[in-house]
Amino acid sequence: MNLPIIAVIGRPNVGKSTLVNRIAGDQQAIVHDQPGITRDRTYRPGFWQDRNFQIVDTGGIVFDDEEEFLPFIREQAAIALNEASVGIFVVDGKNGLSAADIEIAEWLRQQTVPIVVAVNKCESIENGYVQAAEFWELGMGEPFPISSIHGSGTGEMLDKVIEYLPTITEVEADNTINVAIIGRPNVGKSSLLNALTGEKRAIVSPISGTTRDAIDMLVQRGEQKYRLIDTAGIRRKKNVDYGAEFFGINRAFKAIRRSDVVLFVLDVLDGVTEQDMKLAGRIIDEGRAVILIVNKWDAVEKDTYTINEHRKELKNRLFFMDWAEMLFISAETGQRVNKILDLVDKCAESHRRRVSTSVINEVIKDAVTWHSPPTSRQGKQGKIYYGTQVRSQPPTISLFVNDPKRFNDNYRRYIERQFRKDLGFPGTPIRLVWRGKKVREIERGVGSPNRATKV
Ligand code: GDP
Ligand code: GDP
Repeated sequence: MNLPIIAVIGRPNVGKSTLVNRIAGDQQAIVHDQPGITRDRTYRPGFWQDRNFQIVDTGGIVFDDEEEFLPFIREQAAIALNEASVGIFVVDGKNGLSAADIEIAEWLRQQTVPIVVAVNKCESIENGYVQAAEFWELGMGEPFPISSIHGSGTGEMLDKVIEYLPTITEVEADNTINVAIIGRPNVGKSSLLNALTGEKRAIVSPISGTTRDAIDMLVQRGEQKYRLIDTAGIRRKKNVDYGAEFFGINRAFKAIRRSDVVLFVLDVLDGVTEQDMKLAGRIIDEGRAVILIVNKWDAVEKDTYTINEHRKELKNRLFFMDWAEMLFISAETGQRVNKILDLVDKCAESHRRRVSTSVINEVIKDAVTWHSPPTSRQGKQGKIYYGTQVRSQPPTISLFVNDPKRFNDNYRRYIERQFRKDLGFPGTPIRLVWRGKKVREIERGVGSPNRATKV
């Protein structure tokens, strides 16, 4: 199940990234302090009402002469729209309608994706509608006055946007699990693909992926379907002339983004290399469920302790994904290959899992009782008012607290451990978002999806 995508389009400086920050702002509070985290991601998770989505900003580059760069904007927009369910076309209400807006609109009208026009920088509610009115001329339906800086009008605009997302039932009906086989060259990805699909040759069918030359394969086991992502990328043999490393890693990054579960293939003879760390960073960044596939187990001389020693060493090195499942296999002899899809099922289930607010607050209550939050030197103690799961894939829990700064990393890790201990979540990352909130707001129930419960 892939989250639907919302693409944000518009000329430079209209406020696209400000808007994306506002919509996905909550999710940005996630702190990554693991090594190898990449910062170039433009796909951000967000939600509005009961809908989860990914929002992608197509801009980020500011040009002096924007007319000259219309083709560039179009190209960026085309890439984003290709995968999107709906686009937000952002225009600048302060500057008014520009020739470039009209050109972009003309092009957008030829696309099949529905578009909502957001007239940004309309801070004043009264003037907003007047400012927005001239954008009817774009011929793309009602222009919504918004202010990305203040947040006004964004709610009405998003109400319209989510109307165009596929319904929850449509998204959930496609319960195919997306699986990416990721790893450095030569760790045995192609061999694993063969081992996985070979035994089920009869029911393997290639299906076209989202990018031109990506080939996905569908594997069915009982009722469950698995989409093996970009198998063409796995099979392609490295071509040293083309800088295969670079080409390969970008391809891997794309496959990770489209997956639910990553089979992260390592070569047991090499252990975890720098390149592996880079891939691991991206997998974490994207919040995917992970199975560490430790391949070439047949080539290791072993006694009864060997497997535990390897396990320990790998967990140490990949400490930031110590929740990942691990399987020692041989793609060549087929040893334990038949266990992989069982684990994929298990990981996909925890990745999609939703836990009720009352259960989450039980865990918090218990955790806080055992180990109270730190107290600052001024004697002020951290307080967790309540928590609630705000999205799945991966499970993301917002914790409403008096002051996020009072909760140090140690305590944050403790709380995460308690969630894992009490609720499980094998094979998936979980994200905790620490949000400061005033008691008064909590009591008024401001902004809380459920009635606030103090814990
Ligand atoms: P992008 O190039 O389209 O991503 O635009 P940015 O998000 O970087 O914003 C460009 C400029 O417009 C920045 O100086 C922002 O502070 C400003 N800006 C963005 N949103 C608003 C808004 O809602 N109101 C006002 N007045 N300025 C805004
Ligand atoms: P890829 O580049 O990750 O797709 O790796 P390949 O599947 O092409 O495998 C690279 C090399 O490792 C080949 O020579 C394979 O024969 C070898 N190899 C793959 N899996 C295993 C395994 O389980 N055991 C051993 N001993 N060698 C393997």
